[in-house]
Amino acid sequence: MRCHRCNKDFPSIYYFQAPGLCNECFDRLSDDEKTAARRPAAIHALTTTAFTIDGYKIVKSLGIVRGITVRSRSLFGTIGASLQTIVGGNIALFTDLCEQTREEAFEMMLAHAQERGGNAVIGIRYDATEVMQGVNEVICYGTAVIVEPAG
Ligand SMILES: [Zn+2]
Repeated sequence: MRCHRCNKDFPSIYYFQAPGLCNECFDRLSDDEKTAARRPAAIHALTTTAFTIDGYKIVKSLGIVRGITVRSRSLFGTIGASLQTIVGGNIALFTDLCEQTREEAFEMMLAHAQERGGNAVIGIRYDATEVMQGVNEVICYGTAVIVEPAG
């Protein structure tokens, strides 16, 4: 896979932050450019946990696509969260971390789907496991498909 910007070749999608944009090139973008590059707007509208999309028919199934992120909790965050555990309630520090991690896995899955030529992802699921103490893996997967407006 090549980065469209620097034209370097990378072994897998996990070296990319956005479709056709490697980690290095991505880091050099401004915040606005990052947001824009990261969100494949067209495909975002066509993602679902169901296996059909209203108003569209599936013309081709391209198989399972996934995105994986592995994150460790920072020591600082862990201490903060431990304090919150004592207080009780929703542990905001971990909620934020999980949310970010899932978002990344989701975006990566979408990039993967687009790369296969899909324009929608159906049957989306998340799964998370603790790889080791304090290190979590989040996987987001679904079936990449090509859809057409039903009509
Ligand atoms: Zn690059």
